[in-house]
Amino acid sequence: MIRKTRLFTPGSTPLLPAAQFAMAAADIHHRTPEFRALFQKVLAQLKVFVGTQNDVLLLSCSGTGAMEASVSNLTSPGDKVLVLTAGKFGERWVDLTKAFGCQVDVLEKPYGQTFTVDEVKAALKPEHKAVYMQASETSTAVNHDVEGVAKLLKGTETLLIVDGITGLGTQTFDVDGWGVDILIGGSQKAVMIPPGLAYLSVSERAWKAMDASKNPRYYFDLRKERKNQVKGETAYTPAVALVAGLGAALDYIAGQAGGDLEKGRIALIDNAQVNAKATRAGLVALGFTLFAPTSPSAAATAVAVPEGMNSGDVVKALKAKFSLVTANGQGSMQGKIFRVAHLGFFDFLDTVAFLGAMEHIAKDVLGLPVVYGQAVAAAQQVYADAVKG
Ligand SMILES: *Cc1c(COP(=O)(O)O)cnc(C)c1O
Repeated sequence: MIRKTRLFTPGSTPLLPAAQFAMAAADIHHRTPEFRALFQKVLAQLKVFVGTQNDVLLLSCSGTGAMEASVSNLTSPGDKVLVLTAGKFGERWVDLTKAFGCQVDVLEKPYGQTFTVDEVKAALKPEHKAVYMQASETSTAVNHDVEGVAKLLKGTETLLIVDGITGLGTQTFDVDGWGVDILIGGSQKAVMIPPGLAYLSVSERAWKAMDASKNPRYYFDLRKERKNQVKGETAYTPAVALVAGLGAALDYIAGQAGGDLEKGRIALIDNAQVNAKATRAGLVALGFTLFAPTSPSAAATAVAVPEGMNSGDVVKALKAKFSLVTANGQGSMQGKIFRVAHLGFFDFLDTVAFLGAMEHIAKDVLGLPVVYGQAVAAAQQVYADAVKG
């Protein structure tokens, strides 16, 4: 049997062919009218994709660069901030805010869980300059309640900074209505292109806070980027090919809804949510336990393997037998869970393929009692119910 490589990891995600062609053809210099036209088009599309009237900036770095920028640009040494964490990416906020000298209060929940609005309310103090959180904690495949936290902060001086790197394109945000001051996305997630770009929306409040911030910044000086980006320029050499790929990907997403990018974004979110739900149903039908049953992310599903088994064996077997690439758990979750992605360029038939492979792995590698078709049948039902509306 031949094998076809299929990427099911929550970043990098599968590449959109149209974006790959656009990247290969992007031999343009960045200080030209051609690039300025492309960059301005992509920035305008990103505003629609994020769903905001705020400025949206595009940075040439991985997602963590934009996370760092939203700490270094907004805070001063000694500032009190609150970090909400229940996984590896939440821990990154803790490390970053500490690295820039903040006094960090941490609301921490065990891996696989999320915090309630009441818990956040209890942890929040008026002197908190900012709250840092994830929308989707990719390491545990859990969604956090951004809207609930935003409501708590309404009318206060505290800024809300959200890592939406796997939240964008998998869940709905009302950035302006809720009052999200910074929302961050990354290129290797729902927008179907390789790693190397991060984008972020920045509110007027956040711009004001930047003037008072005393932390050092140079490459990631957002005020300098803003001055350049309104003119279709970047402060330094941008990842030109990735910008071209991003434009093609956003065109594709718009094309899924007759050219309307806002509707295309909704279709992309629905797609991730249906595929996530179908995947959960299929895996539960096979006898697996979901690692995050209460607030599951649509970006990825985290699956616990039965006691005494190693999730690494599932990851290895999927790769060896089907060339299907999933992600093991990170840190202390390694060996206990594996993660399968739904964000970006996945359709329902990809989900069927994954579950078909899992039926063989569950039977042959884990020795579970499997009737062929049982995971696929559960997923088919989810799909049928979803398209019925
Ligand atoms: C992928 C990801 C990041 C960014 O990581 P980079 O490796 O810097 O791109 C940050 N937060 C979340 C939730 C992610 O999924």
